[in-house]
Amino acid sequence: MTTELKQTFCSIITIGDELLIGQTIDTNSAWIAQQLNPIGIPVKRRIAVGDNKQEILDALERERNDSDIIIITGGLGPTSDDITKPVLCEYFNSGLIENAAVLKHIMSYFDKRNRPMLQSNLMQAMVPEVCEVLFNEEGTAPGMLFKEKGQVIISLPGVPNEMQYIISTHVLSYLQANFKTPNFIHRTLVTSGEGESFIAERLKDFEATLPPEIKLAYLPKINIVKLRLTATDIEEGILETHFHRLKEILHNITIIDADLELEFVLGQLLVRNQKTISVAESCTGGSIASRITSIKGSSAYFKGGIVPYSIESKQNVLEVSKDTIDRFGVVSEETVIEMAQKCREKFKSDFALSVSGYLEKKDHDNSVWIGLNSSSTKLTKKIIAPYDREKNTILVANAALNLLRLFILKQLSASS
Ligand code: ATP
Ligand code: MG
Repeated sequence: MTTELKQTFCSIITIGDELLIGQTIDTNSAWIAQQLNPIGIPVKRRIAVGDNKQEILDALERERNDSDIIIITGGLGPTSDDITKPVLCEYFNSGLIENAAVLKHIMSYFDKRNRPMLQSNLMQAMVPEVCEVLFNEEGTAPGMLFKEKGQVIISLPGVPNEMQYIISTHVLSYLQANFKTPNFIHRTLVTSGEGESFIAERLKDFEATLPPEIKLAYLPKINIVKLRLTATDIEEGILETHFHRLKEILHNITIIDADLELEFVLGQLLVRNQKTISVAESCTGGSIASRITSIKGSSAYFKGGIVPYSIESKQNVLEVSKDTIDRFGVVSEETVIEMAQKCREKFKSDFALSVSGYLEKKDHDNSVWIGLNSSSTKLTKKIIAPYDREKNTILVANAALNLLRLFILKQLSASS
């Protein structure tokens, strides 16, 4: 089955009452969309429906009007609220048959874990006669692939790692082999320092000269804006030329010319220069440390962190002087300077970052101070935290990580 002429679309239907009440956040459809995007299958719609037969059937019918590929997640488990399999049997007018390979897998799955098996678990080896089974090494419910009228309907477990396993090992290769998809190429530039509207202003002329096959997308995050060029069925060299121009225009605010996170870029910089870092975080509560340690191999450069959240712990644990805090306040340039210095001494790192501030307005103050200490430098930066706590934490962490990144780059260019 190869759809030659018309564009192939996919719809993603996630099933579960828990999604509708917000108890579970639907990360499945975002993840699936991220996998389909690079292979050139655009997602037409992502919808969530409850554990309700009619809702599921209605959604399936609606999506089949617009999409050739329907991916469904959830409701394949052994419990009574998991109704996807019987609903699909009814929809495709199919009985169930036992799949020997799945049965063997389920039995060894429970055996290996030394767990008793119930009849309901064995029932997971019963699959609709008309489907192709997509084997699930990560769990007990297999995926199911149905073909009808040139369309493909794929039903997967809701458990994220099981769904991801089946998509990665079975579904993507199947879709690429069976659907004609355009050749998409992306190039991403990560920037920090200017808001998206300022950037858009700077890119007016650039955008006007882009050929219709290349689209520019703005992906703003908190104090980071990613710019993505997507080319459809075009030579890579042409995209490169335009991407090169984009880099030139925005060189002063560029973090990296690939879709990578700030903490990764900073980590690379520290590794390359054989430098280490430690952090003393008050208001961010360990977020910066967590961002740093989210990168594989960070033990090579991260010495450790401390969260001296109270005034007492700033004095007793980090040993910031009482005098500094009394004279200048706990949220002050002087305090973060001393926090960073004490942190660097305690952890014996090349650099230390410190933060102290208000993530929510206190007496009309929502400022946060960031300090950076090295053997030769005491740097500070004051930022205003205008969002809610969660966003402000990201804002401050980004600002701190970027402060260090820029400082190292400046040092490097001065010494070269
Ligand atoms: P199980 O065998 O565990 O019953 P299932 O196929 O029946 O699997 P669900 O019962 O719908 O799937 O969901 C199982 C778990 O997977 C849920 O507890 C939820 O945490 C997670 N989950 C389900 N759907 C999603 C989703 N769309 N995004 C993220 N997580 C999800
Ligand atoms: Mg379930």
